[in-house]
Amino acid sequence: MKYPLAGLESNDKRTKIKLGNATIGGGNFSLIAGPCSVESWQQISTIAKAVSQNSAVVLRGGAFKPRTSPYSFQGLGVEGLRLLKESAKMYKLACVSEVMSEEDVAMVAEQVDILQIGARNMQNFSLLKRVGQIKKPVLLKRGFCATYDELLSAAEYILGEGNSQVILCERGIRTFETTTRNTLDLAAVPILKKLTHLPVIVDPSHGTGVRELIAPMSKAALVAGADGVMIEVHPDPDSAQSDREQTISIEQFIDIVADLKKIAEAIEVPL
Ligand code: PEP
Ligand code: MN
Repeated sequence: MKYPLAGLESNDKRTKIKLGNATIGGGNFSLIAGPCSVESWQQISTIAKAVSQNSAVVLRGGAFKPRTSPYSFQGLGVEGLRLLKESAKMYKLACVSEVMSEEDVAMVAEQVDILQIGARNMQNFSLLKRVGQIKKPVLLKRGFCATYDELLSAAEYILGEGNSQVILCERGIRTFETTTRNTLDLAAVPILKKLTHLPVIVDPSHGTGVRELIAPMSKAALVAGADGVMIEVHPDPDSAQSDREQTISIEQFIDIVADLKKIAEAIEVPL
C-alpha cells in the first residue's frame, strides 16, 4: 500500500479535526481567515472580531514568515504568536501559524491550536517528523512544485510519528503562467479526497496572488468538495506588510461568506 496511514479505506473513516466547537473535515465547510502576517494588536484583534462574527472558526496569522527575500518583513516572531493567541481567545476562535524550524516546534505548539507547515517546507522531513511527535493538528501546505504523491508522502512522515491530525492544503503550484502568482489546482481537491481520509482545504490567496480571484476561487473550492478555505484578510489590505496584492478587506470577506452560504445551502454542506 502506497499510503498506509493517509490512504482512504472507507468513507466513514474520514479524519475529523476537533477544535473547540468547530470541526474541520466533518463534511462541513470551515472558514479560516486572517492576515498574512500579524502586525499589531490593533490589526489582529480587529480582524479576529470581524471574521469571528462572519462564520470563521480559525484565525490565521504569520509570526515567523518564510519570505523569498531576506529584506522583506520577516514577521513579529514570538510577540506575533502572543498577539494571535490572545485575539483568537478573545473572540473564541482557534488559531493557526507557521512553524519554520524544528527548534521552534515546541514553542509554537504552546501558542497555537494548529501548526502550519509552509509550502517551502513540505519536504523538510526532519521538521515533518518533529511536528508528528506533538499532539496538535498540523496544516500541511502543498509545495509549489509538489505532486499529489509527494504531498501525501509528506503527510505520511507526520502520521508515522503518531500524529493523526493532519489537514492538507492546496495553495497553488508553479506553472508557466505569470498573470497569477501560482496556478490554483482545484482538481487536487476531488483527487486527494479520493486518495486520502485527511481533510483537504484550499488557500485561494497564495493560490492566485490576486485579490479579485479570492471570491470565485473560494466558491469553486466549496463546489469542488473542499473541507474549507483559508483566506488572507486585512482591515486595510493596501497597507498590509506582506502579500497585499492577494489580501482582501473585511467588507470583501463578508460578501464572500454571504455568497458561500447560499451555495453551501444549495449543495447541502453545513457552513
Ligand atoms: C502562508 O500561508 O502564510 C504562507 C506563507 O503560505 P505558503 O507556505 O503556501 O506560501
Ligand atoms: Mn501570505
